[in-house]
Amino acid sequence: MSFTLALVGRPNVGKSTLFNRLVGKRLALVDDQPGVTRDLREGAARLGDLRFTVIDTAGLEEVTDDSLQGRMRRLTERAVDMADICVFMIDARVGITPVDELFAEILRKRSAHVILVANKAEGRAGEEGALEAYALGLGDPIRVSAEHGEGMNELYAVLQPIADELEASTPDPVTDLDVMDDDEAEDEESYKPTREKPLQVAVVGRPNAGKSTLINKILGEDRLLTGPEAGITRDAISLTLDWQGTPMRIFDTAGMRKKAKVQEKLEKLSVSDGLRAVKFAEVVVVLLDADIPFEQQDLRIADLAEREGRAVVVAVNKWDLEENKQAKLAGLKEAFNRLLPQLKGAPLITVSARTGRGLDRLHDAILRAHDVWNRRVPTAALNRWLTGMLEAHPPPAPQGRRIKLRYMTQAKTRPPGFVVMCSHPDKMPASYTRYLVGGLREDFDMPGTPIRLTLRGQG
Ligand code: GDP
Ligand code: GDP
Repeated sequence: MSFTLALVGRPNVGKSTLFNRLVGKRLALVDDQPGVTRDLREGAARLGDLRFTVIDTAGLEEVTDDSLQGRMRRLTERAVDMADICVFMIDARVGITPVDELFAEILRKRSAHVILVANKAEGRAGEEGALEAYALGLGDPIRVSAEHGEGMNELYAVLQPIADELEASTPDPVTDLDVMDDDEAEDEESYKPTREKPLQVAVVGRPNAGKSTLINKILGEDRLLTGPEAGITRDAISLTLDWQGTPMRIFDTAGMRKKAKVQEKLEKLSVSDGLRAVKFAEVVVVLLDADIPFEQQDLRIADLAEREGRAVVVAVNKWDLEENKQAKLAGLKEAFNRLLPQLKGAPLITVSARTGRGLDRLHDAILRAHDVWNRRVPTAALNRWLTGMLEAHPPPAPQGRRIKLRYMTQAKTRPPGFVVMCSHPDKMPASYTRYLVGGLREDFDMPGTPIRLTLRGQG
């Protein structure tokens, strides 16, 4: 299959330049036609081995100022709704403007896949602007130069797995057919509802932990509530459904594994499928077998989820078989804190995929983890907090010179990432960083999410 990619951003960031680079000479004729003002340009694009349709929201500069914003918004929304993936461009030399923020808002709400691109960053230009772009909460910006063709490999590296995922999850056209009558069709024209992005969840765990049983149970309950097959699209690797009213896309690593024919490949495949699922997930549910919890493989995948910056929920399955539940739970909690200190405070939920017990709590834990993962702490509150932390426990003074921490801001979410401006960041001992991270977790109530803290020197 091929996908559609929209280039979105305010005028002059370089959308047309990137469009032309992706499309090559094939559309030169259209460009040269005088007086042709078309809202959305489409072209057949190529990047490496990827073939796709690219949409450009060009021609906005010709619009008079007062109508610019409204028109820009409408055009952008249309492009976003047409596209599978959006490349959101900013001008790295200019940095983030209020109009960029407006666009970011639209994209966060409306687009399932956003790639943030900081353009005009040839050579070492635009480093600051690219850094600022973290604050948009759209992930890591890719620095490119559309004009000079720099950064295209990086763009490909980010695009390729999304393209893969889209291909794998393309719903069956028959079951997914949207039948609507004329009235509805008219409404659809005049009013495009905001697309609710399904919350992306991966269920991972060792073979026989009960992943398939769990997913089938969730699916079964949903079926009871919504009628046969309603709203559910299923493919080899994921299924999309409303779980108790929350749209979720669940990556089913067991389903992937069961496609494997050769027995020896089984273990290897289940690990790499787990990795893949973790990459696309927002929340990772690590499903443990209560009888054999925290095996090597479980620890590895939980650690990976943390390093990939995903929110983690640990679910202990087959709880129906447990006789001494209280003692068992205490033991599990102790083992969890000892073996996975990096996931401190992550929820530990006991469930029975077989009976369905605990699934409500699992559902709520997933929502809450997602919420924490998206948390944004205001800068003023952070700096007040920092002052208190410094007073309570001053930073060390290597060679008699105290490290000064001056200012702090949250640079990104999903997961929360903070930047502290300080003198001699290289001299800061890891223990002090841990003190700050632990404090952030406690004081701003962010259990179970990875927290990133970057120290930055002031040059
Ligand atoms: P659009 O309005 O977003 O479509 O922006 P354009 O593609 O028309 O580019 C706006 C201006 O930025 C033009 O003068 C381009 O030559 C320039 N530009 C585009 N990409 C780059 C780049 O990577 N580096 C630099 N330095 N200039 C660029
Ligand atoms: P997967 O390999 O992780 O997908 O695991 P399955 O879903 O295939 O489950 C493995 C085995 O554990 C099956 O025999 C299930 O019936 C059993 N099982 C799964 N969940 C539960 C549970 O909550 N309680 C009990 N007693 N057995 C379970």
